[in-house]
Amino acid sequence: MLSTMQDVPLTVTRILMHGVQVHGRSQITTWTGEGEPQRRSFAEAGTRAVQLANALRDELGVRGDDRVATFMWNNAEHVEAYFAIPAMGAVLHTLNLRLPADQLVWVANHAADKVVIVNGSLLPLLAPLLPKLTTVEHVVVSGPGDRSLLDGARPRVHEYEELIADRPKTFDWPEIDERQAAAMCYTSGTTGDPKGVVFSHRSIYLHSMQVNMAQSMGLTDQDTSLVVVPQFHVNAWGLPHATFMTGVNMLMPDRFLQPAPLAEMIESERPTHAAAVPTIWQGLLGELTAKPRDVSSLTQVTIGGSACPPSLMEAFDKLGMRVCHAWGMTETSPLGTIARPPAHAIGTDEEFAYRITQGRFPAAVEARLSGPGGERLPWDGESAGELEVRGPWIAGAYYNGPDVEPLRPADKFSEDGWLKTGDVGTISADGFLTLTDRAKDVIKSGGEWISSVDLENALMSHPDVTEAAVVAVPDDKWGERPLATVVLREGSTADFESLRAFLAGDACRIAKWQLPERWSIIAAVPKTSVGKFDKKVLRKQYAEGELDVTQL
Ligand code: AMP
Repeated sequence: MLSTMQDVPLTVTRILMHGVQVHGRSQITTWTGEGEPQRRSFAEAGTRAVQLANALRDELGVRGDDRVATFMWNNAEHVEAYFAIPAMGAVLHTLNLRLPADQLVWVANHAADKVVIVNGSLLPLLAPLLPKLTTVEHVVVSGPGDRSLLDGARPRVHEYEELIADRPKTFDWPEIDERQAAAMCYTSGTTGDPKGVVFSHRSIYLHSMQVNMAQSMGLTDQDTSLVVVPQFHVNAWGLPHATFMTGVNMLMPDRFLQPAPLAEMIESERPTHAAAVPTIWQGLLGELTAKPRDVSSLTQVTIGGSACPPSLMEAFDKLGMRVCHAWGMTETSPLGTIARPPAHAIGTDEEFAYRITQGRFPAAVEARLSGPGGERLPWDGESAGELEVRGPWIAGAYYNGPDVEPLRPADKFSEDGWLKTGDVGTISADGFLTLTDRAKDVIKSGGEWISSVDLENALMSHPDVTEAAVVAVPDDKWGERPLATVVLREGSTADFESLRAFLAGDACRIAKWQLPERWSIIAAVPKTSVGKFDKKVLRKQYAEGELDVTQL
């Protein structure tokens, strides 16, 4: 028997219309670095999104599922593009401006982007690539920057503000099948070519509802969210869409992502929530320690993208900012888990232990663990295996070009269609995920696994260590052993023996056989285009003898 419910498609268009009408007074504030920030209401941004859609169709000839790329910071214009492009039936492709040039060219050509909307401040990065972007016909420039860099450019160049000015303020939005592509984003590609993940209207809609649930970020129109996580990195964790559903105000840092301006915007704009990867928070912590500011408005901080060191969580707790740890990936839209402790643990010794896990799966995300031989492992909090997930906002394949079968590589998708995350961990009986490593980063020593993440967290809890990354290096006797690379605080006199003793001591209790014997001081941990530790680089530096390694 079929239900008697209406079958109304779940679309980005609907989110836009709702945000404009019901939460029209909510604000998008964009930091400008000097003077007053730019302030724009949801109603104004929505109207400008309508004008942008008209311009893209009437002036630039965007039709059907043409791809319109953005090469932008987090700002109000980027939010306008977020809504205009999918609502008109086209596909938003957020280009990751931190990708190496050759990968950027590869992804723009692979996606066959027809238009690129770019921030003027990013023209020095984009302009040299334009001759190689074979499908791009139009470049639209928004915000300050040197236009002369585009002199002689092959694609036609337009000014964003001129392009949208005087356009109609209505658009007859097309009926959209909710399974149609709305946006695409390529994975950061630490191995092989980047892979295109294509989000549907439906997946974005459902994911936004999840982001808004009290057990997730749980924000309301009384909140202001400082969206540090880039809009080119998995849709800024879904925040621009989720906020239009609930009227949460957005504070956008634009290109001012350094610790000092971030601290300044928190003090003056008083956001209640912020979302970013751990490296940003580590930087902000240093800044606030050196120069205390009034950051008391910021009571909730969502950290994900890589593991949040417990020491960082404790430090922010002391500042009155409650960290909520979350896990996800481009392929999971990204929200996969979020660490809100269960009611029975609140106020007990168990609470912190729950908070430093990667968190609990929401109802829509099914999870299972797969052992080394492909066997299913129990949710007992001890058996570690590769995490596999499925659900309505989880990718089932990668984009492979128009009219071509999507890609389903066997190392990424199981035969029965689950996403193999490449993350290794345990799941407790009550559904909390604890990641112990990336499948490719785990250290296999004498037939046992050593978690590089556990060692890093322990090292980073040492007062003299600002950053630490641990990688597997070949070892004649044990197969692999851990190499600890550490960044020491300025002026520190800590030596390797004392750090090793710290790991073994009461503070960390790392088992003796797991303690690294190879150590190296580095100036900074190499990072990927989205600010995660790039262990591939460290492994290569070690292999090529570029690190100064001491063996204890
Ligand atoms: P990306 O697709 O670039 O967002 O990368 C996704 C990967 O980041 C995941 O597969 C994890 O390896 C890692 N990651 C994301 N969040 C966390 C977290 N909270 N703890 C540990 N690793 C994480």
